[in-house]
Amino acid sequence: MTITETIPVERIATSRISEIDFKNLEFGKYISDHMVVAEYRDKKWHAPVIKPYGEMAMTPAILALHYGQAVFEGMKAFRTVDGNITIFRIYKHHQRLNRSLERMCMPAIREDMFVQSLHALVELDRAWVPDDEGSALYIRPVVFASESRLGVKISDQYKFVVMTSPVGPYFNKPIKVKVEETYVRAAEGGTGYAKCAGNYGGAFYPTQLARQQGYDQVLWTDAKEHNYIDESGAMNVMFVLNGKLVTPRLTTALLDGVTRDSILTLANETGMPAEERRVSLDDLIAGFEQGTLTEAFGAGTAAVVAPIATINIHGKDYHLPPVTDASFQMRIKKKLYNIRHGIEPDKHNWNYTIVVK
Ligand SMILES: *Cc1c(COP(=O)(O)O)cnc(C)c1O
Repeated sequence: MTITETIPVERIATSRISEIDFKNLEFGKYISDHMVVAEYRDKKWHAPVIKPYGEMAMTPAILALHYGQAVFEGMKAFRTVDGNITIFRIYKHHQRLNRSLERMCMPAIREDMFVQSLHALVELDRAWVPDDEGSALYIRPVVFASESRLGVKISDQYKFVVMTSPVGPYFNKPIKVKVEETYVRAAEGGTGYAKCAGNYGGAFYPTQLARQQGYDQVLWTDAKEHNYIDESGAMNVMFVLNGKLVTPRLTTALLDGVTRDSILTLANETGMPAEERRVSLDDLIAGFEQGTLTEAFGAGTAAVVAPIATINIHGKDYHLPPVTDASFQMRIKKKLYNIRHGIEPDKHNWNYTIVVK
């Protein structure tokens, strides 16, 4: 029995795949034929079903819209050289989803329901997994409060929906970031470590201001002193400083990225010492002035690594040396690519494999 047979499927009448220009995939623009939907009511999750992707009937009174109980995940599926499909670190994403759900007083999702839902959906829509180099099928699970009620309360009803989207190689133009010293994304004790919707809505305005000043992203600092780096946009941030990989240690104010964790693990194995610690603005300025800060990059599922060319600190632009094939970030990106596509051995069992028959 294949997994697809364990979840009821209502198939789309005609696939939309022929409308997709796989050579020009904009991130998140196209959503594949089917979606998983499961409902939580009467204090339990009911069995998921797969149906055609499309509109869902809901009232404007659903609690997610008013009080923000909404969390999501972002992951990727890849085609391997032997023709199968792998989902990268599905169990770690599931654990993080449950941490986010707990922070928002939302019901946990069992591992088997999560894994089987994703497996069945990706298997069914496997034609949507692109095979061009650097492309992948992005997987977006989302959970939101679906009870209709105007009073402020913890919802008694939720929906779990999984959608997928073919995505092309992320264009790695080095980005300019601005250290944020006025606005705050998250404070310790807040929801920064949860992948919850409100964190993103709240980050738009400061990011828009930074864009108007010519920067691509904000580099968030701690809420108390604006002195220690947290993360950037929807990416963790990493530096090569004094020949070591350095990244801000995890606090409740930043997201425990799967890409971050994977890069830290691989760095240690490839002989690059890695340090998780507080990174102050003075550490960065000293690194620029002494020439010991040689790389800075964002790390996340969407871009894998996003090279940083310029960091604005206290209103001054500091520039990083150009990225080359020998840069740590490019070597580690390649290594991750090789593991995900079955080119290098997957020593940590990061790949969840869907055998394509
Ligand atoms: C998703 C996300 C990341 C990156 O996490 P990955 O698991 O590597 O994709 C980092 N920061 C924020 C705020 C995020 O939402």
